[in-house]
Amino acid sequence: ATPAATMVGTSIGARNGVLFKGGDVLERVRDVDAVVFDKTGTLTRGEMTLTDVVALDEQRKADGTSIDESFVLRMAAGAERGSEHPLATAIVDGATDRDLSMAEPSDFENVPGHGIRATVSGHEVLVGNRALLESEDVDVDSSIEPLESLESDGKTAMLVAVDDRVVGVIGVADEIEPSAERTVAALSDRGHDVWMITGDNERTARAVAQSIGIKASNVVAGVLPADKASAIEEIQDEGRDAMMVGDGVNDAPALAAASVGAAIGSGTDVAIEAGDVTLVRDDPYDVVKTIRISEATLAKIR
Ligand code: ADP
Ligand code: MG
Repeated sequence: ATPAATMVGTSIGARNGVLFKGGDVLERVRDVDAVVFDKTGTLTRGEMTLTDVVALDEQRKADGTSIDESFVLRMAAGAERGSEHPLATAIVDGATDRDLSMAEPSDFENVPGHGIRATVSGHEVLVGNRALLESEDVDVDSSIEPLESLESDGKTAMLVAVDDRVVGVIGVADEIEPSAERTVAALSDRGHDVWMITGDNERTARAVAQSIGIKASNVVAGVLPADKASAIEEIQDEGRDAMMVGDGVNDAPALAAASVGAAIGSGTDVAIEAGDVTLVRDDPYDVVKTIRISEATLAKIR
């Protein structure tokens, strides 16, 4: 872009909460033909709420008493006190709201992209996805039905194991951003291919994608934090210029790998630093504005 176009684009952007970093970003934004959204905190609010606690009733504690919902939640919340993940916060807050007492965890271990492991009141507790429990040879059969039913509702479902037995399933919901559907429609109308990428599981991801108009074949789910960048590279290897839109520390490598990285919302400093554009407001529709601003300024001023 000419210096004049860059100046105009940059200042129109700034007035609309779109901060472009440097002059050639406008051109790269114009050339984008695929937009990849992170799910959590970008297409959803990122404010998670505990909605479901299911006790798997065929399981029994060692003393013969049955396992109830408050036991499942107390064990899970005790273990999650060691984590700062938004899912952990939702579980601990949910237990607090229900007036449950939680023990401090010991031997806490975070398993990135899978969950956590901790000792709570002398019990070995696992909270996380199916892969986490399976890696510890826990039989998950009895949990599959409630797990899949929560996921089909677009909730993130986590399994809880105590002393190597699955005892319950916990569901956490995150509200979809009100403008997400409008954003996907506007981008699709402009001929952009819209994708969603997430560490969350396939079923939850597809339920969310379907509700906002992203097609199932454009959902990349179960991606480990370290693999988000390679997922972007794969999309770009098919000849596309991708804009990655994300908010988290997890997203920084993907923001850097994309032709245009857009850090959204208050986000994290790491994401903002890795991005080419910062969307100051926490509104996915500002992606549409970003594209419009670059197209308009580059078309008018040569
Ligand atoms: P995202 O990309 O959606 O932020 P993460 O990579 O952080 O996802 O996590 C992926 C999955 O790993 C979660 O959906 C959840 O099943 C599991 N997980 C991660 N951290 C935790 C935790 N602290 N407690 C329970 N489960 C977790
Ligand atoms: Mg995220």
